[in-house]
Amino acid sequence: MASLESFESTIHFETRLAPLMELIEKGKYSKVFVFADSNTSEKCLPVFREMLDDFNGFDLIETDPGEENKNIDFCIGIWKTLLDFEADRKSLMINLGGGVITDMGGFVASTYKRGIDFVNIPTTLLSQVDASVGGKTGIDVDNVKNMVGTFTLPKAVFIEHEFLNTLSERELLSGFAEVIKHGLIADKDYYETLKNSDFKQLDPAIVLHSVEIKNQVVTEDPKEQNLRKILNFGHTIGHAVESYALNHDQKPLTHGEAIAIGMICEAFLSQRYNHLEEAELKDITSYITSLYPEYTIAPDSFEALLKLMQSDKKNEHGQILFSLLDHIGHCEYNCRVTEKDILESLVYYNSIYAV
Ligand code: NAD
Repeated sequence: MASLESFESTIHFETRLAPLMELIEKGKYSKVFVFADSNTSEKCLPVFREMLDDFNGFDLIETDPGEENKNIDFCIGIWKTLLDFEADRKSLMINLGGGVITDMGGFVASTYKRGIDFVNIPTTLLSQVDASVGGKTGIDVDNVKNMVGTFTLPKAVFIEHEFLNTLSERELLSGFAEVIKHGLIADKDYYETLKNSDFKQLDPAIVLHSVEIKNQVVTEDPKEQNLRKILNFGHTIGHAVESYALNHDQKPLTHGEAIAIGMICEAFLSQRYNHLEEAELKDITSYITSLYPEYTIAPDSFEALLKLMQSDKKNEHGQILFSLLDHIGHCEYNCRVTEKDILESLVYYNSIYAV
């Protein structure tokens, strides 16, 4: 199908991984590792092998699934495994999984022996349209998301729709939050198309356009000095809600569920600070709540959420900074917001479900 250039890295679409074999042969790698979690090892590794005519010239490194494992302890385990396998600097790591695997695998690869090559094969919608593209790798520290990481590009990214066949509806919906975000920040027509589409039967063209939007933004500003900050729309509050839920809720939110909450709160702030029209705020609120499950942000968590937002990487000089919409399809960054208004945005979110 298509391919997109992203600096010296290429994003391949629907190639059944053919360019991966060329890359392995050309790279003359001494060893190839596949990094997966137990779910992707079971569900995606057979598809991977089948696409590569039963290729088995690799060692598998398997980890436990889930955000709670995206931390330094697991990285140490993986670095030690690489050492045990005598991985040298000419090794290649293939990250086969969702955003946790591409983030953590990318971080491990970019730091092992000061950096080895890696490739991302994202297997969730979220990692296809977002996590695997743009070169951000990272892990969580002390419940704060993505606190330690690097900007390192994979040698290539391979997006294959077939991997999504085994993904649960909940995980598909999680990834769809980032797709919606791309429409909200960059393309109103695309946002309208999404409203008329079914996330359960996603057209690969929708995935492709979402990646195009992300790739265009990160190509313009790879190190997030300016424009790239717009990709954080929904994430300042969303990340705080996600981190808090990870430690306090019995069933933690998915990344996308948290970002959906964050986008509604930050659309509220967009109306207050950035002239987003009331009708557009209502449209965003009703579209997102029609898709995502009802949730209440516990009022006794508000102070803790503010504290988590204070650790956000976009902040400067102790001020929490937001990326806010001025209308659907356009976003601005470095918006200063008072704590009082942040709290009001949480109250606004809860009011949607109040009878
Ligand atoms: P994930 O990797 O935890 O995957 C979600 C679940 O789906 C896991 O249980 C996984 O084992 C399972 N799974 C993966 N592929 C599957 C498949 N094809 N079939 C069946 N099960 C499958 O999480 P995610 O939602 O993909 O990604 C979230 C992570 O991505 C977060 O840590 C977030 O911070 C990160 N992220 C990073 C960036 C970035 O730019 N680096 C951007 C957005 C999100």
